Amino acid sequence: KMPVPSDIEISRSCIPKPIDQVAREIGLLPDELELYGQTKAKVHLSALKRLKNQPDGKYVVVTGITPTPLGEGKSTTTIGLVQALGAHLHQNVFACVRQPSQGPTFGIKGGAAGGGYSQVVPMEEFNLHLTGDIHAITAANNLVAAALDTRIFHEQTQNDQALYNRLVPSVNGVRKFSEIQIRRLQKLGINKTDPAALTKEEVNLFVRLDIDPATITWQRVLDTNDRFLRKITIGQSPTEGGFSRVAQFDITVSSEIMAVLALSDGLDDMKKRLGRMVVASNKRGEPVTTDDLGVTGALAVLMKDAVKPNLMQTLEGTPVFVHAGPFANIAHGNSSVLADKVALKLVGKEGFVVTEAGFGADIGMEKFFNIKCRYSDLRPNVVVLVATVRALKMHGGGPTGLLFHNLSKQIQNARLFGVPVVVAVNAFKTDTKAELALVVQLAKEAGAFDAVECTHWAEGGKGAVALARAVQRASQTPSNFRFLYNVELPVIDKIRIIAQQIYGASDIELLPEAQEKVAVYTKQGFGNLPICMAKTHLSLSHDPEQKGAPTGFILPIRDIRASVGAGFLYPLVGKMSTMPGLPTRPSFYDIDLDTTSGEVNGLF
Ligand code: ADP
Repeated sequence: KMPVPSDIEISRSCIPKPIDQVAREIGLLPDELELYGQTKAKVHLSALKRLKNQPDGKYVVVTGITPTPLGEGKSTTTIGLVQALGAHLHQNVFACVRQPSQGPTFGIKGGAAGGGYSQVVPMEEFNLHLTGDIHAITAANNLVAAALDTRIFHEQTQNDQALYNRLVPSVNGVRKFSEIQIRRLQKLGINKTDPAALTKEEVNLFVRLDIDPATITWQRVLDTNDRFLRKITIGQSPTEGGFSRVAQFDITVSSEIMAVLALSDGLDDMKKRLGRMVVASNKRGEPVTTDDLGVTGALAVLMKDAVKPNLMQTLEGTPVFVHAGPFANIAHGNSSVLADKVALKLVGKEGFVVTEAGFGADIGMEKFFNIKCRYSDLRPNVVVLVATVRALKMHGGGPTGLLFHNLSKQIQNARLFGVPVVVAVNAFKTDTKAELALVVQLAKEAGAFDAVECTHWAEGGKGAVALARAVQRASQTPSNFRFLYNVELPVIDKIRIIAQQIYGASDIELLPEAQEKVAVYTKQGFGNLPICMAKTHLSLSHDPEQKGAPTGFILPIRDIRASVGAGFLYPLVGKMSTMPGLPTRPSFYDIDLDTTSGEVNGLF
């Protein structure tokens, strides 16, 4: 057999269809399409309205066992499966995947377009700027950060009347509140529309957000792995009058705005979420929101194009939506609700939408069900759980032993939600026939609906036809989907349910900071949000060294944060980095531009 060429060589050897042709083939109208060159287009949300009476297709989520740091092929399997269903079994299909962050692309992991003969093409378009959604998020996020620090600065340096005069300026002798200011007055219980009618106390309440700098949770972001920004001091120029504080940059994909984009189900819903984001508390302990900062409308404007899903295609010409890419550790790690919704309408009742959830089933899949499906109201029909021999060897402790506790626990985790599980055994050329057959057999014994060996990395869709048929069969069985917990339960109970039922912990332990936050968030009225655990993806437990399916451990909850606009609380299990670093030899060493042909080399 010929060796498989590099991802970029394969991607480049494919001549993609013009993207408007792909759009036509799936029934999009010309005015629902916004072209970004020949190979990418944004799809207007008006398509969702036009198709609202169309029944949804089958909804399939791809997840995996606890991976090695290299990844076990969830993206590759997502693409291989839709190529099999679409190009080989002639079904209507759509893949919905996340947009990768530039950080890993130039850092360690490389691209995320899938791999081998199962890829989104052109992979350099996919992996680099795409249509600029991540840049829009960076811009929106940093506008909030600038608004926040500047507001504190202005409140510190001006008295109430001076602030009022500037916030509600007199234009041709007339003062008028803006719409966002009237919203703020209503929130304060002041039902006045005439700026001259406010009492001194009301002016004071109105002009002072009175932010407690110690409670600021909003950070600046950048989509580059720049570890030197993990802790910085801002405001050191004398022009800021000594108002300096310690702050940090996070990677853009960890911004709450990314999670908002991923969970919104329309423009109006996105705008509401963008206005609800909590950036700090005031000195009375009440939450201060982006709407209080007056920035909601501007954020919606910056995000108005990002909200539209991006259409691309696979190597075999089937449609793909690439939309949103929230971090799977501190956020929920799933592509957008909107892309899934539009795709489910476009494929129609008999079609399939395959969407991917980040990391292992204990993380991405649990959050897919408990957070994403809760907000979208979409109900999944099948879970595809990707397993590899190499990851099972790691869980088994040694290059020769294979242990199945992790696989069988992750199968059970999927079944807890009442959805049938098909295990995709992603074959590597180093695997033996006997090893692959054993994984298939044990997966079936552990309760999978079916388990199939697949070779889509080396062979494209053809190598995933058996998987596609198994998914078709599984989608015919009734799905008895249920959530793992009721959101109305107390915060601690919800965390304990996830820890015990999904991770295998015997109990949880809340460290003092976490206990304090439970009290604060419950008092502020955020206690009924779903939970987004921020935990290592390298173990079912909090300790990346604990392989297999550990039991009997106590899960420590160090702290809890809130993403109120996105709509979840995120407990921190141990230390979570929100700004990755670069290795000694980053991927960018191999990335180059051929200045004659304009081709990008070295992406993988
Ligand atoms: P995940 O989505 O689970 O993180 P990816 O699909 O991105 O994993 O795959 C991780 C890496 O492994 C990619 O570089 C991909 O090309 C490679 N890969 C996946 N499946 C195979 C396979 N069967 N053989 C060789 N390499 C593979």
